[in-house]
Amino acid sequence: MKVAVYSTKPYDQRFLDAANSAHRHSLHFLEPRLDRHTAPLAAGYQAVCVFVNDLLDAPTLEALAQGGTRIVALRCAGFNNVDLAVAERLGIAVVRVPAYSPHAVAEFSIGLLLALDRRIPRAWARVRENNFALEGLIGRNLHGRTVGVVGTGRIGALVARSLCAGFGCNVLASDIAEDEELKQLGVRYVPLADLIGASEIITLHCPLTPETHHLINRDSLANARDGLILVNTSRGALTDTRALIAGLKSRKLGGVALDVYEQEADLFFEDLSSEIIEDDDFQRLLTFPNVLITGHQAFLTEEALTSIAETTLQSLTDAEAGKPLTNAVIAEAVLRPRS
Ligand code: NAD
Repeated sequence: MKVAVYSTKPYDQRFLDAANSAHRHSLHFLEPRLDRHTAPLAAGYQAVCVFVNDLLDAPTLEALAQGGTRIVALRCAGFNNVDLAVAERLGIAVVRVPAYSPHAVAEFSIGLLLALDRRIPRAWARVRENNFALEGLIGRNLHGRTVGVVGTGRIGALVARSLCAGFGCNVLASDIAEDEELKQLGVRYVPLADLIGASEIITLHCPLTPETHHLINRDSLANARDGLILVNTSRGALTDTRALIAGLKSRKLGGVALDVYEQEADLFFEDLSSEIIEDDDFQRLLTFPNVLITGHQAFLTEEALTSIAETTLQSLTDAEAGKPLTNAVIAEAVLRPRS
Protein backbone atom coordinates (compact mmCIF):
# COMPACT_ATOMS: atom_id res chain seq x y z
CA MET A 1 0.00 0.00 0.00
CA LYS A 2 1.22 3.53 -0.72
CA VAL A 3 1.50 5.35 2.60
CA ALA A 4 2.25 9.03 3.23
CA VAL A 5 3.90 9.20 6.66
CA TYR A 6 3.46 12.67 8.19
CA SER A 7 5.41 14.27 11.06
CA THR A 8 8.32 11.93 10.42
CA LYS A 9 11.31 12.10 12.75
CA PRO A 10 14.46 10.06 12.09
CA TYR A 11 13.47 7.54 14.78
CA ASP A 12 10.01 7.06 13.15
CA GLN A 13 11.65 6.27 9.84
CA ARG A 14 14.16 3.90 11.47
CA PHE A 15 11.55 1.84 13.31
CA LEU A 16 8.97 1.87 10.46
CA ASP A 17 11.59 0.84 7.89
CA ALA A 18 12.73 -2.02 10.14
CA ALA A 19 9.16 -3.27 10.67
CA ASN A 20 8.30 -2.85 6.98
CA SER A 21 10.64 -5.65 5.91
CA ALA A 22 7.79 -7.99 6.90
CA HIS A 23 5.16 -6.00 4.96
CA ARG A 24 6.71 -4.19 1.99
CA HIS A 25 4.43 -1.18 1.93
CA SER A 26 5.61 1.82 -0.05
CA LEU A 27 6.36 4.34 2.71
CA HIS A 28 6.80 7.97 1.73
CA PHE A 29 8.26 9.91 4.67
CA LEU A 30 7.21 13.54 5.08
CA GLU A 31 8.48 15.95 7.72
CA PRO A 32 5.48 18.35 7.84
CA ARG A 33 2.55 17.89 10.15
CA LEU A 34 -0.72 16.93 8.50
CA ASP A 35 -3.31 19.68 8.33
CA ARG A 36 -5.56 21.16 5.66
CA HIS A 37 -2.54 22.82 3.98
CA THR A 38 -0.34 19.72 3.80
CA ALA A 39 -3.11 17.22 3.02
CA PRO A 40 -2.59 17.55 -0.77
CA LEU A 41 0.87 15.97 -0.31
CA ALA A 42 -0.99 12.69 0.22
CA ALA A 43 -2.83 12.80 -3.13
CA GLY A 44 -2.62 9.37 -4.69
CA TYR A 45 -1.76 7.65 -1.38
CA GLN A 46 -4.33 5.14 -0.09
CA ALA A 47 -3.09 5.60 3.46
CA VAL A 48 -1.71 8.34 5.68
CA CYS A 49 0.21 7.58 8.85
CA VAL A 50 0.04 10.32 11.48
CA PHE A 51 0.98 11.18 15.06
CA VAL A 52 -0.48 13.06 18.03
CA ASN A 53 -0.22 16.63 16.76
CA ASP A 54 -1.38 16.08 13.19
CA LEU A 55 -4.77 17.75 12.81
CA LEU A 56 -7.41 15.66 11.04
CA ASP A 57 -10.32 18.09 11.10
CA ALA A 58 -13.09 18.20 8.49
CA PRO A 59 -11.20 20.21 5.80
CA THR A 60 -8.13 17.98 6.17
CA LEU A 61 -10.15 14.78 5.94
CA GLU A 62 -12.10 16.11 2.95
CA ALA A 63 -8.83 16.96 1.15
CA LEU A 64 -7.48 13.49 1.96
CA ALA A 65 -10.65 11.81 0.66
CA GLN A 66 -10.46 13.85 -2.53
CA GLY A 67 -6.87 12.64 -3.04
CA GLY A 68 -7.93 9.00 -2.69
CA THR A 69 -6.93 8.28 0.91
CA ARG A 70 -9.03 5.48 2.40
CA ILE A 71 -7.32 4.86 5.71
CA VAL A 72 -5.71 6.91 8.48
CA ALA A 73 -3.21 5.03 10.63
CA LEU A 74 -2.49 6.79 13.93
CA ARG A 75 0.83 5.69 15.35
CA CYS A 76 -0.43 6.51 18.85
CA ALA A 77 -3.24 5.50 21.21
CA GLY A 78 -5.13 8.79 21.52
CA PHE A 79 -7.40 9.89 18.66
CA ASN A 80 -8.71 13.23 19.94
CA ASN A 81 -7.06 14.94 16.93
CA VAL A 82 -9.35 13.16 14.44
CA ASP A 83 -12.91 14.21 13.60
CA LEU A 84 -14.24 10.66 13.67
CA ALA A 85 -17.75 11.60 12.51
CA VAL A 86 -16.36 13.25 9.37
CA ALA A 87 -14.01 10.33 8.71
CA GLU A 88 -16.93 7.95 8.98
CA ARG A 89 -19.06 10.08 6.63
CA LEU A 90 -16.23 10.12 4.07
CA GLY A 91 -15.68 6.36 4.39
CA ILE A 92 -12.13 6.80 5.71
CA ALA A 93 -11.15 4.09 8.18
CA VAL A 94 -9.16 5.18 11.23
CA VAL A 95 -6.85 2.75 13.00
CA ARG A 96 -4.64 3.36 16.00
CA VAL A 97 -2.19 1.55 18.23
CA PRO A 98 -4.24 1.01 21.36
CA ALA A 99 -1.60 -0.54 23.60
CA TYR A 100 1.92 -0.28 22.26
CA SER A 101 3.61 -0.21 25.61
CA PRO A 102 1.62 1.02 28.55
CA HIS A 103 4.72 0.28 30.63
CA ALA A 104 6.65 2.99 28.76
CA VAL A 105 4.16 5.69 29.78
CA ALA A 106 3.47 4.33 33.27
CA GLU A 107 7.17 4.13 34.12
CA PHE A 108 7.79 7.62 32.77
CA SER A 109 4.89 9.02 34.80
CA ILE A 110 6.35 7.66 38.02
CA GLY A 111 9.79 8.85 36.92
CA LEU A 112 8.44 12.39 36.44
CA LEU A 113 6.72 12.29 39.81
CA LEU A 114 9.87 11.17 41.59
CA ALA A 115 12.04 13.66 39.70
CA LEU A 116 9.74 16.54 40.66
CA ASP A 117 9.05 15.46 44.21
CA ARG A 118 12.70 14.65 45.04
CA ARG A 119 14.06 17.71 43.16
CA ILE A 120 16.29 15.55 40.96
CA PRO A 121 16.66 17.99 38.00
CA ARG A 122 17.53 20.83 40.43
CA ALA A 123 20.06 18.63 42.22
CA TRP A 124 21.65 17.59 38.93
CA ALA A 125 21.95 21.23 37.81
CA ARG A 126 23.64 22.11 41.12
CA VAL A 127 26.12 19.26 41.03
CA ARG A 128 27.18 20.27 37.51
CA GLU A 129 28.14 23.63 39.05
CA ASN A 130 30.03 21.90 41.88
CA ASN A 131 27.29 23.06 44.23
CA PHE A 132 26.71 20.22 46.65
CA ALA A 133 24.50 22.12 49.10
CA LEU A 134 21.26 20.34 49.98
CA GLU A 135 19.18 23.29 51.19
CA GLY A 136 16.08 23.56 48.99
CA LEU A 137 16.17 19.93 47.90
CA ILE A 138 14.00 18.44 50.65
CA GLY A 139 11.40 16.08 49.20
CA ARG A 140 8.69 13.82 50.61
CA ASN A 141 8.42 10.04 50.81
CA LEU A 142 5.94 8.54 48.38
CA HIS A 143 5.28 5.79 50.92
CA GLY A 144 2.08 6.46 52.83
CA ARG A 145 0.92 9.38 50.73
CA THR A 146 -2.52 9.57 49.16
CA VAL A 147 -2.34 9.46 45.37
CA GLY A 148 -5.32 9.89 43.05
CA VAL A 149 -5.19 8.09 39.71
CA VAL A 150 -7.72 9.44 37.19
CA GLY A 151 -8.32 6.77 34.54
CA THR A 152 -7.30 3.20 35.38
CA GLY A 153 -7.05 1.78 31.87
CA ARG A 154 -3.87 0.22 30.53
CA ILE A 155 -1.49 2.94 31.72
CA GLY A 156 -3.34 4.15 34.81
CA ALA A 157 -3.74 0.60 36.12
CA LEU A 158 0.02 0.03 35.93
CA VAL A 159 0.67 3.33 37.73
CA ALA A 160 -1.94 2.56 40.41
CA ARG A 161 -0.57 -0.96 40.92
CA SER A 162 2.99 0.23 41.24
CA LEU A 163 2.16 3.09 43.61
CA CYS A 164 -0.06 0.88 45.74
CA ALA A 165 1.76 -2.45 45.80
CA GLY A 166 5.28 -1.11 45.15
CA PHE A 167 5.60 2.22 46.94
CA GLY A 168 2.94 1.64 49.61
CA CYS A 169 0.82 4.67 48.73
CA ASN A 170 -2.82 5.03 49.66
CA VAL A 171 -4.26 4.95 46.11
CA LEU A 172 -7.62 6.46 45.19
CA ALA A 173 -8.94 6.00 41.66
CA SER A 174 -11.62 7.48 39.48
CA ASP A 175 -12.86 5.82 36.31
CA ILE A 176 -16.16 5.11 34.65
CA ALA A 177 -15.29 1.41 34.84
CA GLU A 178 -13.72 -0.17 37.91
CA ASP A 179 -10.80 -2.62 37.81
CA GLU A 180 -11.49 -5.50 40.21
CA GLU A 181 -7.82 -6.55 40.40
CA LEU A 182 -6.82 -3.06 41.51
CA LYS A 183 -9.54 -3.07 44.15
CA GLN A 184 -8.15 -6.33 45.51
CA LEU A 185 -4.74 -4.65 45.82
CA GLY A 186 -6.30 -1.95 47.96
CA VAL A 187 -7.03 0.76 45.36
CA ARG A 188 -10.23 2.59 46.34
CA TYR A 189 -12.58 3.96 43.64
CA VAL A 190 -14.19 7.26 44.60
CA PRO A 191 -16.04 9.98 42.66
CA LEU A 192 -13.68 12.42 40.91
CA ALA A 193 -14.56 15.31 43.22
CA ASP A 194 -13.68 13.19 46.28
CA LEU A 195 -10.42 12.11 44.65
CA ILE A 196 -9.46 15.72 43.97
CA GLY A 197 -10.38 16.73 47.51
CA ALA A 198 -8.46 13.94 49.26
CA SER A 199 -5.31 13.43 47.16
CA GLU A 200 -1.84 14.82 47.88
CA ILE A 201 -0.76 13.76 44.40
CA ILE A 202 -2.97 13.38 41.31
CA THR A 203 -1.86 11.65 38.14
CA LEU A 204 -4.00 11.81 34.98
CA HIS A 205 -4.42 8.76 32.72
CA CYS A 206 -7.83 9.21 31.09
CA PRO A 207 -8.31 10.09 27.43
CA LEU A 208 -9.16 13.61 26.27
CA THR A 209 -12.89 13.70 25.54
CA PRO A 210 -15.51 16.46 25.83
CA GLU A 211 -16.18 15.12 29.37
CA THR A 212 -12.53 15.24 30.46
CA HIS A 213 -11.57 18.55 28.79
CA HIS A 214 -10.16 20.88 31.51
CA LEU A 215 -10.90 18.29 34.17
CA ILE A 216 -8.39 20.18 36.30
CA ASN A 217 -9.60 23.77 36.36
CA ARG A 218 -9.99 26.65 38.82
CA ASP A 219 -13.14 25.19 40.37
CA SER A 220 -11.84 21.66 40.79
CA LEU A 221 -8.53 22.97 42.17
CA ALA A 222 -10.39 25.10 44.71
CA ASN A 223 -11.45 21.86 46.42
CA ALA A 224 -7.98 20.33 46.32
CA ARG A 225 -5.62 20.02 49.27
CA ASP A 226 -3.00 22.75 49.58
CA GLY A 227 0.30 21.77 48.01
CA LEU A 228 -1.24 19.25 45.60
CA ILE A 229 1.26 17.66 43.19
CA LEU A 230 -0.16 17.14 39.69
CA VAL A 231 1.26 14.81 37.05
CA ASN A 232 -0.11 14.78 33.50
CA THR A 233 1.31 12.44 30.89
CA SER A 234 -2.03 11.95 29.15
CA ARG A 235 -3.22 14.93 27.10
CA GLY A 236 -2.53 18.62 27.72
CA ALA A 237 -6.12 19.81 27.51
CA LEU A 238 -7.10 17.70 30.53
CA THR A 239 -5.83 20.68 32.50
CA ASP A 240 -6.56 24.38 32.13
CA THR A 241 -3.09 25.95 31.87
CA ARG A 242 -4.15 29.31 33.33
CA ALA A 243 -5.67 27.49 36.31
CA LEU A 244 -2.36 25.68 36.83
CA ILE A 245 -0.46 28.97 36.80
CA ALA A 246 -2.92 30.52 39.26
CA GLY A 247 -2.72 27.42 41.45
CA LEU A 248 1.08 27.50 41.49
CA LYS A 249 1.09 31.22 42.35
CA SER A 250 -1.37 30.73 45.22
CA ARG A 251 0.58 27.63 46.44
CA LYS A 252 -2.58 25.52 46.07
CA LEU A 253 -0.39 23.48 43.73
CA GLY A 254 2.87 22.35 45.27
CA GLY A 255 4.30 21.04 42.03
CA VAL A 256 3.34 20.19 38.46
CA ALA A 257 4.97 17.62 36.19
CA LEU A 258 3.82 17.61 32.58
CA ASP A 259 4.75 15.53 29.56
CA VAL A 260 1.89 17.06 27.59
CA TYR A 261 0.71 20.64 27.15
CA GLU A 262 -2.53 22.05 25.80
CA GLN A 263 -0.86 24.06 23.01
CA GLU A 264 1.97 21.60 22.45
CA ALA A 265 1.28 21.33 18.72
CA ASP A 266 3.03 24.69 18.28
CA LEU A 267 6.10 23.61 20.27
CA PHE A 268 6.80 19.96 20.87
CA PHE A 269 8.91 17.62 18.75
CA GLU A 270 10.91 20.52 17.22
CA ASP A 271 14.22 22.15 18.15
CA LEU A 272 13.13 25.71 18.91
CA SER A 273 16.20 26.59 20.97
CA SER A 274 17.06 29.52 18.66
CA GLU A 275 13.49 30.75 18.34
CA ILE A 276 11.40 33.25 20.27
CA ILE A 277 8.62 31.33 22.02
CA GLU A 278 5.44 33.36 21.81
CA ASP A 279 3.37 31.22 24.14
CA ASP A 280 3.45 33.30 27.35
CA ASP A 281 1.60 30.70 29.41
CA PHE A 282 4.15 28.05 28.55
CA GLN A 283 7.01 30.41 29.33
CA ARG A 284 5.39 31.33 32.66
CA LEU A 285 5.08 27.66 33.58
CA LEU A 286 8.79 27.21 32.95
CA THR A 287 9.69 29.95 35.45
CA PHE A 288 8.34 28.02 38.46
CA PRO A 289 10.99 26.05 40.36
CA ASN A 290 8.40 23.36 41.10
CA VAL A 291 7.34 22.71 37.50
CA LEU A 292 8.94 19.97 35.44
CA ILE A 293 8.05 19.70 31.75
CA THR A 294 9.12 17.18 29.14
CA GLY A 295 8.15 17.32 25.48
CA HIS A 296 5.75 14.38 25.08
CA GLN A 297 8.33 11.64 25.39
CA ALA A 298 6.62 9.22 27.79
CA PHE A 299 6.06 6.78 24.92
CA LEU A 300 9.65 6.97 23.69
CA THR A 301 11.19 3.58 24.38
CA GLU A 302 12.62 1.07 21.91
CA GLU A 303 9.90 -1.40 22.87
CA ALA A 304 7.13 1.11 22.25
CA LEU A 305 8.53 2.36 18.93
CA THR A 306 8.92 -1.22 17.70
CA SER A 307 5.39 -2.09 18.75
CA ILE A 308 3.95 1.11 17.22
CA ALA A 309 5.64 0.40 13.88
CA GLU A 310 4.63 -3.27 13.79
CA THR A 311 0.99 -2.67 14.77
CA THR A 312 0.59 0.25 12.36
CA LEU A 313 1.97 -1.65 9.37
CA GLN A 314 -0.03 -4.79 10.28
CA SER A 315 -3.24 -2.70 10.25
CA LEU A 316 -2.37 -1.46 6.75
CA THR A 317 -1.59 -5.00 5.59
CA ASP A 318 -4.95 -6.18 6.98
CA ALA A 319 -6.74 -3.28 5.25
CA GLU A 320 -5.09 -4.16 1.95
CA ALA A 321 -6.16 -7.80 2.34
CA GLY A 322 -9.73 -6.77 3.20
CA LYS A 323 -9.44 -8.32 6.66
CA PRO A 324 -11.30 -6.88 9.69
CA LEU A 325 -9.44 -3.94 11.23
CA THR A 326 -8.97 -4.98 14.84
CA ASN A 327 -7.55 -1.59 15.81
CA ALA A 328 -10.20 0.50 14.06
CA VAL A 329 -11.30 3.48 16.13
CA ILE A 330 -14.68 4.04 14.54
CA ALA A 331 -15.79 0.46 14.98
CA GLU A 332 -14.90 0.16 18.63
CA ALA A 333 -16.46 1.81 21.65
CA VAL A 334 -14.26 4.44 23.26
CA LEU A 335 -15.07 2.92 26.61
CA ARG A 336 -13.68 -0.58 26.82
CA PRO A 337 -15.63 -3.25 28.63
CA ARG A 338 -13.71 -4.73 31.53
CA SER A 339 -12.83 -8.41 31.43
P1 NAD B 1 -7.07 3.30 28.06
O1 NAD B 1 -8.16 3.49 27.08
O2 NAD B 1 -6.54 1.92 28.30
O3 NAD B 1 -7.53 3.86 29.49
C1 NAD B 1 -8.20 5.07 29.65
C2 NAD B 1 -9.08 4.93 30.88
O4 NAD B 1 -9.70 6.18 31.12
C3 NAD B 1 -10.19 3.87 30.71
O5 NAD B 1 -10.19 2.99 31.80
C4 NAD B 1 -11.46 4.71 30.66
O6 NAD B 1 -12.59 4.05 31.20
C5 NAD B 1 -11.04 5.90 31.51
N1 NAD B 1 -11.89 7.06 31.33
C6 NAD B 1 -12.55 7.47 30.20
N2 NAD B 1 -13.26 8.58 30.47
C7 NAD B 1 -13.03 8.87 31.77
C8 NAD B 1 -13.49 9.89 32.64
N3 NAD B 1 -14.35 10.82 32.21
N4 NAD B 1 -13.05 9.89 33.92
C9 NAD B 1 -12.22 8.94 34.38
N5 NAD B 1 -11.74 7.94 33.59
C10 NAD B 1 -12.15 7.91 32.32
O7 NAD B 1 -5.90 4.31 27.65
P2 NAD B 1 -4.36 4.21 28.04
O8 NAD B 1 -3.64 3.36 27.05
O9 NAD B 1 -4.23 3.89 29.49
O10 NAD B 1 -3.91 5.71 27.77
C11 NAD B 1 -4.37 6.78 28.58
C12 NAD B 1 -4.04 8.09 27.90
O11 NAD B 1 -2.61 8.26 27.91
C13 NAD B 1 -4.40 8.09 26.39
O12 NAD B 1 -5.70 8.52 26.21
C14 NAD B 1 -3.40 9.07 25.82
O13 NAD B 1 -4.03 10.35 25.78
C15 NAD B 1 -2.26 9.11 26.83
N6 NAD B 1 -0.97 8.67 26.28
C16 NAD B 1 0.10 9.49 26.40
C17 NAD B 1 1.36 9.10 25.92
C18 NAD B 1 2.60 9.96 26.04
O14 NAD B 1 3.60 9.69 25.38
N7 NAD B 1 2.61 10.99 26.88
C19 NAD B 1 1.47 7.85 25.30
C20 NAD B 1 0.34 7.01 25.22
C21 NAD B 1 -0.87 7.43 25.72
